[in-house]
Amino acid sequence: MAKYVYDFTEGNRNLKDLLGGKGANLAEMTNLGLPVPPGFTITTDACRHYLAEGDQPDGLEQEVAGHLDALEAAMGRKLGQADDPLLVSVRSGAKFSMPGMMETVLNIGLNDESVHGLAKQAGGNERFAWDSYRRLIQMFGKTVLGIDGDLFEEALDRLKGRRLDTDLSAGELQRLVETFKGIVRDQTGTDFPADPREQMRLAILAVFDSWNAPRAILYRRQERIPADLGTAVNVVAMVFGNVGNDSGTGVAFTRDPGSGHQGIYGDYLQNAQGEDVVAGIRNTIPLEELENIDKRSYDELLQIMETLENHYKDLCDIEFTIERGKLWMLQTRVGKRTAAAAFRIATQLVDQGLITLDEAVTRVTGDQLAQLMFPRFDAAAEKKKIAKGMNASPGAAVGKAVFSSARAVELAERGEDVILVRRETNPDDLAGMIAAKGILTSRGGKTSHAAVVARGMGKTCVCGAEELEVATGERRFTAPGGVVVSEGDVISIDGTSGEVYLGEVPVVASEVVEYFEGAEPDDELVKAVDRIMRHADEVRRLGVRANADTPEDAARARRFGARGIGLCRTEHMFLGERRQLVEDLVLAATDEERRQALDALEPLQKSDFAAIFRAMDGNPVTIRLIDPPLHEFLPDIVELSVRVATEEATDKDRKLLAAVKRLHEQNPMLGLRGVRLGLVIPGLFDMQVRAIAEAAKEVPGARPEIMIPLVATVQELEAVREESARILTEVGVEALIGTMIEVPRAALTAGQIAEAAEFFSFGTNDLTQMAWGFSRDDVEAAFFSQYLDLGIFGVSPFESLDRDGVGRLVAIAVREGRAARPDLHIGICGEHGGDPDSVHFCHEVGMDYVSCSPFRIPVARLEAGRAALTETDSDTR
Ligand code: PEP
Ligand code: MG
Repeated sequence: MAKYVYDFTEGNRNLKDLLGGKGANLAEMTNLGLPVPPGFTITTDACRHYLAEGDQPDGLEQEVAGHLDALEAAMGRKLGQADDPLLVSVRSGAKFSMPGMMETVLNIGLNDESVHGLAKQAGGNERFAWDSYRRLIQMFGKTVLGIDGDLFEEALDRLKGRRLDTDLSAGELQRLVETFKGIVRDQTGTDFPADPREQMRLAILAVFDSWNAPRAILYRRQERIPADLGTAVNVVAMVFGNVGNDSGTGVAFTRDPGSGHQGIYGDYLQNAQGEDVVAGIRNTIPLEELENIDKRSYDELLQIMETLENHYKDLCDIEFTIERGKLWMLQTRVGKRTAAAAFRIATQLVDQGLITLDEAVTRVTGDQLAQLMFPRFDAAAEKKKIAKGMNASPGAAVGKAVFSSARAVELAERGEDVILVRRETNPDDLAGMIAAKGILTSRGGKTSHAAVVARGMGKTCVCGAEELEVATGERRFTAPGGVVVSEGDVISIDGTSGEVYLGEVPVVASEVVEYFEGAEPDDELVKAVDRIMRHADEVRRLGVRANADTPEDAARARRFGARGIGLCRTEHMFLGERRQLVEDLVLAATDEERRQALDALEPLQKSDFAAIFRAMDGNPVTIRLIDPPLHEFLPDIVELSVRVATEEATDKDRKLLAAVKRLHEQNPMLGLRGVRLGLVIPGLFDMQVRAIAEAAKEVPGARPEIMIPLVATVQELEAVREESARILTEVGVEALIGTMIEVPRAALTAGQIAEAAEFFSFGTNDLTQMAWGFSRDDVEAAFFSQYLDLGIFGVSPFESLDRDGVGRLVAIAVREGRAARPDLHIGICGEHGGDPDSVHFCHEVGMDYVSCSPFRIPVARLEAGRAALTETDSDTR
């Protein structure tokens, strides 16, 4: 028969799935011989059954009754026994901590008779007994019977007036109990249940139900906790911190969760129960002061904290109660900490000999590292928030609002800090984006142009702030509440939270970035980061490359630890003055005219590539041939039409307008782009391949790899490959020729494609777009927030690789590609290459490397190391 109840002596800390975090750790402490009040845990299996079937599983009630009998025998008292009652608490406890989101009921077992027995137990302390009883009715009324908690609070406040709760007399509390019982009767039409076992039964069911309380659901969604885990329920013999001044309750950390330093960190509240600390009804005192109040308990507590740290080999947080000079442990868990503390603690524990460097690497996360890399706003500063958009590229930026790229460049050249504000950005804004401290747009999602480019540059960006009305022509925007920000007004944007503030918010710089840029690690935090990064590099199997299009980005990527470029997009090389040449190419009426346009582009491309090869100094450089539709390089159709309608229009303007109209597409993302362009416009890819070959010939040690985008079928690839191979041979240069896998059909026919490709690089931005049918430029701003609220996914599939869908396409392509060509080199260059969970996926699926924007390289290195270590763990299990 299924077992649904575990005594504390039966469990251990590895049973969190079954017993929840609290239950598993109470069992662990019990088995360590620490003073834990006896009790038992009802499993998450029982909760899941109850929530699914609407009823308790068969046998659960008998099993609970059996454990309660054993508990009563151990304590020598019966639950609610009139002359000498055993009281219990019924506490929730899920696998992942969900602080305060679910229910707990204390003091179960009290009624009009046992309240006297409790007073007798406490040496005639009537006040304590009535206080405990009113707490039971209050908590039970609110959580089990669903009565509005304010009704009880208001009655208590009326009685207290300006006094503290500890000032209430036994008689007053007894009257309060009557008032509370009246509230229960009024609100539910029945009396407060006096039967102790019935109280316990109802409380257990209420805890089960609280798994699906709205706030718990919301919390899980935010923290990405699966909705189907259920909670365990702990039934624990009550100990009392509210018996008098020789009693109390507190919380403590075994070291500072802010800095990681060892010491005494905690709070204590005399003559109180646990919920009083959380509710803040009286001010707590620092834990150190307990030494003066009750030295014996204090010394024992420090001893226990040391035992716990040595046992868990990590920072623990604890809850404890002292009942008339006797210390009891009510909870412990590995405690939450700040990003900086996580790195410090991990290396401190290595130095203390408690954990190995391997373990230290698994104790920190890429997200924590990323947090340490961004400049941030001073948390203590005063701020006036005017809008919120998407947190597209983290960091904190302050500057004068400007509304055009040209103006951004102009002011930046004068040494001013600017924030480029646009409705949305386009490739022409690049100069302004580079010049600006940050970018703010009112439209577009996290893979919009602004977001991708900003992340690539490590520049703060908030995008899709739809509440803002941006009037570019008038050089101002309007925020809700009529706030108008004109050019030159200072704003502050937080790319980590997506918030936009009026005026200047003070910024704190990151010393961790300075270290990655080459500064010697001198302070304690940076030294810890250095040690952990070195070790992650030693243990990782995945290579880490960069997405970089310029020699500057390439150089930074190398400083940040990239060993190669996994994606050099070539489209940025056709902007600015070179637009003219693209226009000539599009307008070419004869082969000769087209040839001339391409001949003019070739030397420019050659010098672009040579510069990048030099910056990468012998590391491989994957160059992707031109990908976007050509009309992106032509003037805007509306502007052009207006111009053509006026007198000054040139003949070229008219021809351009005709070309723009001819090239117009309803769905450009699915149109004439990528390899299709290369096949349709003779000479375009050849020009690029020749420029790559000539540049490689010029730069000693250059290792070019030529990558063909948007391939859907091997025939496309073969055509380009043959021609490219011919040019390489002609120039006398060797280069790998491979393809992106970014069209679902390419993934599904990877075996055929691998016959013609020496490497694959997964373009998961397009692969996600096409697998889900989501326009990557539109959907995030349009409706992803609703999709997240509805729980359709916990995180945008553009941000973190969708393992179940897109991931399957990737896995198929890796497997079938390698089956066809065992030495196929495989990587990823979509935005997912720098996302922690996606890096783990890439490791698991057997890729050779990930490629991501320069600023995410340290995160990818760390996560690749963690992925390798986690794999070892599961192998040995
Ligand atoms: C991709 O699609 O994932 C990719 C890297 O290419 P781009 O983002 O340039 O379309
Ligand atoms: Mg793509």
